[in-house]
Amino acid sequence: MSAVDFFGKTVERNFRRRPRFTRGFLRIGYAAQQRLLRRRRGDRRLPSQAFLEQATMRAMRRALADPSRCALVNMFAPAELLHAMGLRPLCAEGFSSFLSGGKCERGYLDFASEKGVPETYCSYHRALLGAVHSGLLQKPRFIITSSSVCDANTSTFREAASHYGMEKFYIDVPHEESEEAVAYVRTQLERLVAFLEEGMGRRMDQDALRLAALRTNESVRYQRKFIDELARREFPNYISAEMHRIIVGHNLLGTEDALKFFRMQYEDIMEFPVQGGGTGLNVDGGIRDGLHVDGGGDDSGFNQRFPDSDPRAKRIIWCHVLPYYAVPLKKLFDFSDRYRLLISDLNFDQLTELDESDILGSMARRLIRNHFNGSALRRAESVTDMAKRLEADAAIIFCQWGCKHSNGGAFLLRDALVAAGVNTLVIDGDAVDRRGTNDGQLATRMQAFLEMLDGGR
Ligand code: SF4
Repeated sequence: MSAVDFFGKTVERNFRRRPRFTRGFLRIGYAAQQRLLRRRRGDRRLPSQAFLEQATMRAMRRALADPSRCALVNMFAPAELLHAMGLRPLCAEGFSSFLSGGKCERGYLDFASEKGVPETYCSYHRALLGAVHSGLLQKPRFIITSSSVCDANTSTFREAASHYGMEKFYIDVPHEESEEAVAYVRTQLERLVAFLEEGMGRRMDQDALRLAALRTNESVRYQRKFIDELARREFPNYISAEMHRIIVGHNLLGTEDALKFFRMQYEDIMEFPVQGGGTGLNVDGGIRDGLHVDGGGDDSGFNQRFPDSDPRAKRIIWCHVLPYYAVPLKKLFDFSDRYRLLISDLNFDQLTELDESDILGSMARRLIRNHFNGSALRRAESVTDMAKRLEADAAIIFCQWGCKHSNGGAFLLRDALVAAGVNTLVIDGDAVDRRGTNDGQLATRMQAFLEMLDGGR
């Protein structure tokens, strides 16, 4: 039995009767895992990727360790406000992914169903509610959600708040951007600040908020530059790194760890040579002193570790979450020289800088502008633009079980991508519940699609 199997089985055996033991066991397991995640000799992960895994694991452990500083949130909660108050956000997608990574999701999913949560409900939220009802997650300091993207963001947090007997804060986000809409959300964010201040018994430190906004802006600039380079350089990637990036690019925005990661990621990609083709532009010099941004790269170091890189490799953009436990996908995509996993659209949905003279107003704008907010056509346009910019050969749209948003918009998105000349595959699965994805079917469909792509070489 592998260590992960042992971990999952121990949690499963104990979580109903001994939630306290299970909580401690999970924290010890995650701490051990964090130590293992340090980069070692021969490790194919880039320095930024090793740091990314450490940073997300650290954030998860911290949020679980001290409920008095934990804010249970959805992915789009304005992270900088939370960090400025010294809070640690815990979101459904991040938390349930970690449960699934440790093979302990099943018990919590079933427990939630026993408590009346429908089996057709998104498994990120179902696993979270299982953890709430079973006592794994202690009463957090705050519960904050918004109307963004999915209806689960409303019902899950309502149920959690009712379970703990506490108030929740809800941000209503209009679908269309206008000055009235921005003012409407801004007013709600002012109320959120007052809500946090009252709950914490102290005022928000405006310097801490400004610092968080500055870090976000620098992080966004590094993300943009990274994407510019991704258009013309290769960048070894793997499925779970894309999921970890989603956490850093949302709930950890405004932290030192997020900024460090985005800076390292940019430094890493600059070590790779420029490939033929691509429309990578805007290499306008370093963001700060000491960065290597000469647009050249060299043949040492990283490049020697990927000697078999195939210039005919297929470039693939991913849409939505990734089932990172799925072995057939990992075999096909992790560090593959043949099929390059470029980016998930959850990693470029909100590349909006904050206005330092109106932080709340620009956070409101960011919430409204997020390409997952509003009409599915907005996301389709954004993903299609990115696919063209990165010269993607193909797109894979992952429809998460129980997610009305991804399922409902999938065919609009597919049609937009196909019209732009991007081969597109729509697949169904469950990114949390291993029972919800048939590995054999997934492998067969994926291989058939990739063979079709290879045939077009
Ligand atoms: S997968 Fe869909 S339903 Fe689940 S959290 Fe994400 S957007 Fe919401």
